[in-house]
Amino acid sequence: MSSDPYHSPRYPGGRRGMMFVLSSPSGAGKTTLSKRLMDKNPDILISVSWTTRAPRPGEENGRDYLFVSQEAFEKNIAANGFYEYAKVFDHYYGTPRAPVEEALAEGRDVIFDIDWQGARLLAEAAPNDAVRVFILPPSLRLLEDRLKKRGQDPEDVISRRMDRAEAEISHWNEYDYVIVNEDFARALEEIDLILHAERLRRTRRPWLEGFVTELFRERK
Ligand code: 5GP
Repeated sequence: MSSDPYHSPRYPGGRRGMMFVLSSPSGAGKTTLSKRLMDKNPDILISVSWTTRAPRPGEENGRDYLFVSQEAFEKNIAANGFYEYAKVFDHYYGTPRAPVEEALAEGRDVIFDIDWQGARLLAEAAPNDAVRVFILPPSLRLLEDRLKKRGQDPEDVISRRMDRAEAEISHWNEYDYVIVNEDFARALEEIDLILHAERLRRTRRPWLEGFVTELFRERK
Protein backbone atom coordinates (compact mmCIF):
# COMPACT_ATOMS: atom_id res chain seq x y z
CA MET A 1 0.00 0.00 0.00
CA SER A 2 1.28 3.45 -0.81
CA SER A 3 1.93 5.99 1.94
CA ASP A 4 0.89 8.74 -0.45
CA PRO A 5 -2.71 9.60 0.47
CA TYR A 6 -3.37 10.69 -3.10
CA HIS A 7 -2.88 7.17 -4.38
CA SER A 8 -5.59 4.63 -3.94
CA PRO A 9 -4.68 1.70 -1.71
CA ARG A 10 -6.56 -0.47 -4.20
CA TYR A 11 -4.84 0.99 -7.24
CA PRO A 12 -1.32 1.83 -6.05
CA GLY A 13 1.02 3.72 -8.30
CA GLY A 14 -1.84 5.31 -10.19
CA ARG A 15 -1.13 8.97 -9.64
CA ARG A 16 0.78 10.90 -12.23
CA GLY A 17 3.33 13.42 -10.96
CA MET A 18 2.96 17.12 -11.73
CA MET A 19 5.34 19.84 -12.75
CA PHE A 20 5.00 22.46 -10.03
CA VAL A 21 6.45 25.60 -11.57
CA LEU A 22 7.39 28.51 -9.30
CA SER A 23 8.42 31.83 -10.83
CA SER A 24 9.15 35.23 -9.34
CA PRO A 25 11.65 38.02 -9.73
CA SER A 26 14.99 37.34 -7.97
CA GLY A 27 14.71 38.24 -4.30
CA ALA A 28 10.97 37.56 -3.92
CA GLY A 29 11.68 34.48 -1.84
CA LYS A 30 11.03 31.76 -4.39
CA THR A 31 14.13 29.70 -3.66
CA THR A 32 13.52 29.66 0.10
CA LEU A 33 9.83 28.91 -0.42
CA SER A 34 10.56 25.98 -2.70
CA LYS A 35 13.11 24.57 -0.23
CA ARG A 36 10.67 24.87 2.68
CA LEU A 37 7.89 23.33 0.59
CA MET A 38 10.20 20.43 0.02
CA ASP A 39 10.90 20.10 3.78
CA LYS A 40 7.14 19.78 4.28
CA ASN A 41 6.76 17.33 1.37
CA PRO A 42 9.94 15.26 1.26
CA ASP A 43 8.61 13.09 -1.56
CA ILE A 44 8.90 16.05 -3.96
CA LEU A 45 11.87 16.38 -6.25
CA ILE A 46 13.44 19.75 -7.06
CA SER A 47 14.54 19.99 -10.66
CA VAL A 48 18.19 21.06 -10.59
CA SER A 49 18.85 23.28 -13.59
CA TRP A 50 22.03 23.48 -15.56
CA THR A 51 23.64 26.91 -15.84
CA THR A 52 26.73 28.43 -17.41
CA ARG A 53 26.96 31.21 -14.78
CA ALA A 54 29.54 31.05 -11.99
CA PRO A 55 28.44 29.79 -8.57
CA ARG A 56 27.69 32.45 -5.92
CA PRO A 57 29.21 32.06 -2.47
CA GLY A 58 27.43 29.27 -0.61
CA GLU A 59 26.04 27.66 -3.74
CA GLU A 60 26.77 24.02 -4.25
CA ASN A 61 27.26 22.19 -7.53
CA GLY A 62 24.53 19.57 -7.95
CA ARG A 63 22.29 21.11 -5.27
CA ASP A 64 21.63 24.68 -6.45
CA TYR A 65 22.59 24.14 -10.08
CA LEU A 66 24.80 21.99 -12.18
CA PHE A 67 27.46 24.54 -13.08
CA VAL A 68 28.69 23.66 -16.55
CA SER A 69 30.73 25.21 -19.36
CA GLN A 70 29.06 26.86 -22.34
CA GLU A 71 30.42 24.05 -24.49
CA ALA A 72 28.85 21.33 -22.33
CA PHE A 73 25.54 23.23 -22.30
CA GLU A 74 25.45 23.61 -26.07
CA LYS A 75 26.27 19.94 -26.50
CA ASN A 76 23.27 19.03 -24.36
CA ILE A 77 21.04 21.38 -26.40
CA ALA A 78 22.12 19.56 -29.56
CA ALA A 79 21.39 16.19 -27.92
CA ASN A 80 17.82 17.37 -27.07
CA GLY A 81 18.72 16.93 -23.41
CA PHE A 82 16.71 19.92 -22.13
CA TYR A 83 12.98 20.20 -21.54
CA GLU A 84 13.47 23.94 -21.96
CA TYR A 85 16.34 26.39 -21.77
CA ALA A 86 16.77 30.16 -21.88
CA LYS A 87 19.48 32.76 -21.91
CA VAL A 88 19.21 35.02 -18.85
CA PHE A 89 21.80 37.70 -17.98
CA ASP A 90 24.11 36.43 -20.77
CA HIS A 91 24.10 32.92 -19.33
CA TYR A 92 22.29 29.78 -20.24
CA TYR A 93 19.84 28.14 -17.85
CA GLY A 94 18.07 24.89 -18.67
CA THR A 95 15.96 22.07 -17.30
CA PRO A 96 17.46 18.64 -17.95
CA ARG A 97 14.88 16.29 -19.42
CA ALA A 98 15.73 12.82 -18.06
CA PRO A 99 15.29 13.28 -14.27
CA VAL A 100 11.93 15.01 -14.76
CA GLU A 101 10.45 12.35 -17.01
CA GLU A 102 11.59 9.63 -14.65
CA ALA A 103 10.02 11.31 -11.61
CA LEU A 104 6.68 12.05 -13.30
CA ALA A 105 6.36 8.47 -14.48
CA GLU A 106 6.96 7.31 -10.89
CA GLY A 107 4.14 9.57 -9.70
CA ARG A 108 6.48 12.06 -8.02
CA ASP A 109 5.91 15.80 -8.22
CA VAL A 110 8.75 18.00 -9.41
CA ILE A 111 9.30 21.64 -8.40
CA PHE A 112 10.77 24.03 -10.95
CA ASP A 113 12.36 27.27 -9.78
CA ILE A 114 12.47 28.94 -13.19
CA ASP A 115 11.63 32.20 -14.95
CA TRP A 116 8.60 33.08 -17.09
CA GLN A 117 10.27 31.89 -20.29
CA GLY A 118 10.87 28.45 -18.80
CA ALA A 119 7.38 28.35 -17.28
CA ARG A 120 5.82 29.13 -20.64
CA LEU A 121 7.87 26.50 -22.46
CA LEU A 122 7.12 23.83 -19.85
CA ALA A 123 3.39 24.58 -19.98
CA GLU A 124 3.47 24.34 -23.77
CA ALA A 125 5.41 21.08 -23.67
CA ALA A 126 3.23 19.49 -20.97
CA PRO A 127 -0.08 21.36 -20.55
CA ASN A 128 -1.67 18.64 -18.40
CA ASP A 129 1.30 18.22 -16.08
CA ALA A 130 2.32 21.84 -15.46
CA VAL A 131 0.89 23.91 -12.60
CA ARG A 132 2.24 27.45 -12.64
CA VAL A 133 2.55 29.60 -9.52
CA PHE A 134 3.84 33.18 -9.53
CA ILE A 135 5.25 34.78 -6.38
CA LEU A 136 4.99 38.56 -6.13
CA PRO A 137 6.98 40.70 -3.68
CA PRO A 138 4.82 43.04 -1.55
CA SER A 139 6.71 46.02 -3.02
CA LEU A 140 9.57 46.72 -5.42
CA ARG A 141 11.44 48.74 -2.78
CA LEU A 142 11.43 45.72 -0.49
CA LEU A 143 12.71 43.60 -3.34
CA GLU A 144 15.62 45.98 -3.90
CA ASP A 145 16.43 45.97 -0.18
CA ARG A 146 16.45 42.17 -0.18
CA LEU A 147 18.78 42.06 -3.19
CA LYS A 148 21.14 44.55 -1.52
CA LYS A 149 21.09 42.71 1.79
CA ARG A 150 22.04 39.53 0.00
CA GLY A 151 25.30 41.43 -0.58
CA GLN A 152 26.44 39.10 -3.30
CA ASP A 153 26.10 41.36 -6.31
CA PRO A 154 27.64 44.74 -7.22
CA GLU A 155 25.43 47.86 -7.66
CA ASP A 156 25.14 47.70 -11.47
CA VAL A 157 24.11 44.05 -11.31
CA ILE A 158 21.42 44.92 -8.74
CA SER A 159 20.12 47.65 -11.03
CA ARG A 160 19.94 45.17 -13.94
CA ARG A 161 18.19 42.68 -11.69
CA MET A 162 15.59 45.33 -10.77
CA ASP A 163 14.94 46.01 -14.46
CA ARG A 164 14.58 42.32 -15.00
CA ALA A 165 12.33 41.97 -11.95
CA GLU A 166 9.87 44.38 -13.55
CA ALA A 167 10.01 42.44 -16.80
CA GLU A 168 9.44 39.14 -14.93
CA ILE A 169 6.48 40.57 -12.97
CA SER A 170 4.85 41.73 -16.21
CA HIS A 171 4.15 38.05 -16.99
CA TRP A 172 2.22 37.44 -13.75
CA ASN A 173 -1.06 36.88 -15.59
CA GLU A 174 0.21 33.83 -17.50
CA TYR A 175 0.12 31.84 -14.25
CA ASP A 176 -2.55 29.61 -12.70
CA TYR A 177 -1.96 30.91 -9.16
CA VAL A 178 -0.45 34.12 -7.78
CA ILE A 179 0.87 34.57 -4.25
CA VAL A 180 2.03 37.78 -2.56
CA ASN A 181 4.98 36.96 -0.32
CA GLU A 182 4.38 39.53 2.40
CA ASP A 183 4.33 37.05 5.24
CA PHE A 184 6.61 34.07 4.64
CA ALA A 185 4.69 31.55 6.75
CA ARG A 186 1.44 32.45 5.05
CA ALA A 187 2.96 32.30 1.57
CA LEU A 188 4.37 28.86 2.37
CA GLU A 189 0.98 27.66 3.59
CA GLU A 190 -0.71 28.96 0.45
CA ILE A 191 1.76 27.19 -1.83
CA ASP A 192 1.34 23.99 0.17
CA LEU A 193 -2.46 24.23 -0.23
CA ILE A 194 -2.13 24.65 -4.00
CA LEU A 195 0.10 21.58 -4.18
CA HIS A 196 -2.36 19.44 -2.21
CA ALA A 197 -5.41 20.62 -4.14
CA GLU A 198 -3.68 20.00 -7.44
CA ARG A 199 -2.82 16.46 -6.32
CA LEU A 200 -6.55 15.81 -6.08
CA ARG A 201 -7.22 16.93 -9.63
CA ARG A 202 -9.18 14.25 -11.44
CA THR A 203 -6.88 14.11 -14.45
CA ARG A 204 -3.88 13.23 -12.26
CA ARG A 205 -5.61 10.17 -10.84
CA PRO A 206 -6.43 7.76 -13.65
CA TRP A 207 -7.12 5.04 -11.06
CA LEU A 208 -10.45 6.75 -10.24
CA GLU A 209 -11.91 5.21 -13.38
CA GLY A 210 -11.39 1.68 -12.05
CA PHE A 211 -12.40 2.74 -8.56
CA VAL A 212 -15.81 4.01 -9.68
CA THR A 213 -16.37 0.96 -11.87
CA GLU A 214 -15.82 -1.15 -8.77
CA LEU A 215 -18.17 1.02 -6.70
CA PHE A 216 -20.93 0.31 -9.18
CA ARG A 217 -20.08 -3.38 -9.31
CA GLU A 218 -20.67 -3.64 -5.54
CA ARG A 219 -24.39 -2.99 -6.03
CA LYS A 220 -24.90 -5.77 -8.53
P1 5GP B 1 19.86 33.13 -10.69
O1 5GP B 1 21.09 33.46 -11.50
O2 5GP B 1 19.45 34.28 -9.80
O3 5GP B 1 20.03 31.85 -9.94
O4 5GP B 1 18.66 32.89 -11.71
C1 5GP B 1 18.37 33.82 -12.69
C2 5GP B 1 17.02 33.49 -13.33
O5 5GP B 1 17.10 32.28 -14.09
C3 5GP B 1 15.91 33.25 -12.30
O6 5GP B 1 14.77 33.98 -12.72
C4 5GP B 1 15.68 31.78 -12.37
O7 5GP B 1 14.35 31.45 -12.04
C5 5GP B 1 15.98 31.48 -13.82
N1 5GP B 1 16.27 30.04 -14.05
C6 5GP B 1 16.91 29.19 -13.23
N2 5GP B 1 16.95 27.96 -13.76
C7 5GP B 1 16.29 28.03 -14.96
C8 5GP B 1 15.97 27.06 -15.98
O8 5GP B 1 16.30 25.89 -15.91
N3 5GP B 1 15.27 27.52 -17.05
C9 5GP B 1 14.88 28.81 -17.16
N4 5GP B 1 14.17 29.16 -18.22
N5 5GP B 1 15.15 29.75 -16.21
C10 5GP B 1 15.85 29.36 -15.12
